[in-house]
Amino acid sequence: MTTESSADFTVRVGATVSSTVAEGPGTRFALWVQGCSLQCPGCFNPHLWGTKGGTDRRVADLVDDVSAADVDGITLLGGEPFEQAVALAALADAVRARGLSVMTFTGYDLPELTGAGAPTGSAELLAATDLLVTGRYERERPDHRRPWVGSTNQRFEFLTDRYRHLEQKLRAIGDRLEIRVDATGAVMVNGWSSMESLEMLLDDPALILRRPGRNSR
Ligand code: SF4
Repeated sequence: MTTESSADFTVRVGATVSSTVAEGPGTRFALWVQGCSLQCPGCFNPHLWGTKGGTDRRVADLVDDVSAADVDGITLLGGEPFEQAVALAALADAVRARGLSVMTFTGYDLPELTGAGAPTGSAELLAATDLLVTGRYERERPDHRRPWVGSTNQRFEFLTDRYRHLEQKLRAIGDRLEIRVDATGAVMVNGWSSMESLEMLLDDPALILRRPGRNSR
């Protein structure tokens, strides 16, 4: 449960989408954190690497945002969630206390999160996560068979029973891509697609560079 003090934690947030069907099972609130030290070659989100961008958001306010969205759960991606694991564990705990699920993407492999030298708060965020996707993005190993992940080395870890029924059905779940255009004409793309497909779809690479989407999976 989130304590009064943990609700005061802040998360450095790169972007949020209040309702998406392209970032995990069901309908989800997606939160891209700002900051990632792993810097995988080919990462689609280099604008989320630096810790100076984004916006500081209180965990309590993020919980309110998630509660107001009609979603099945929250998806944490980035950026690197485990580099803000203490605050995100508080957020994830509070979300689960409301009956919602938590999916977390990380560029770390599971042993890096459980062994000596794991980022601070890793145990707490793992304990608050139902479905974990691990591993750095490897652009020479694109994954065209499983949903949500970017490369074949990345692993699904079913940390609770909540989504275990999907374990043998992953290949039957299609990837989705969502494109939003706001009133100013700004385009936001999330979900997973190859860069080639995006280029064909958008016909303007400059737009692709503005996507907050993911390949940390
Ligand atoms: S793919 Fe993910 S883990 Fe790798 S640099 Fe990009 S945000 Fe970080």
